[in-house]
Amino acid sequence: MSRFKFAGNFGAIHQPEYRRMARDENINPRAFRVHFAALGYANQIGHAEFGPGELAQALSIGYGRQADKATDKAVAAAKQMGLILPESGIRCLILPHTLFQTGKGTTYCKFHGIDIRDLAGVRSPVVPL
Ligand SMILES: [Zn+2]
Repeated sequence: MSRFKFAGNFGAIHQPEYRRMARDENINPRAFRVHFAALGYANQIGHAEFGPGELAQALSIGYGRQADKATDKAVAAAKQMGLILPESGIRCLILPHTLFQTGKGTTYCKFHGIDIRDLAGVRSPVVPL
């Protein structure tokens, strides 16, 4: 087993497991699974981009307009609970980059049109522990 070295209060998650939990229909409410999808698919800047209909499939909700509507509702609930940032939607779930970090994945978000260089010096609200 490899050992990670972390600074401060950071730990680690196994992204494939969080992608699996995002699909697990036994986990409710769906807002939690939206959060798991955000964690499981997030890139280096905390954005998890999805193509049309992909998030509904990643959450095992299904295909089509009704599935997208149900997905949008779950995303709204996750935002309401503060599990993802308000700028999130069914095409991209966002975690504050001060709370989530990974060395894998892209360093940009095509959907939001931002790049890691745009985040230099930007502070996201951090919940005091
Ligand atoms: Zn994004």
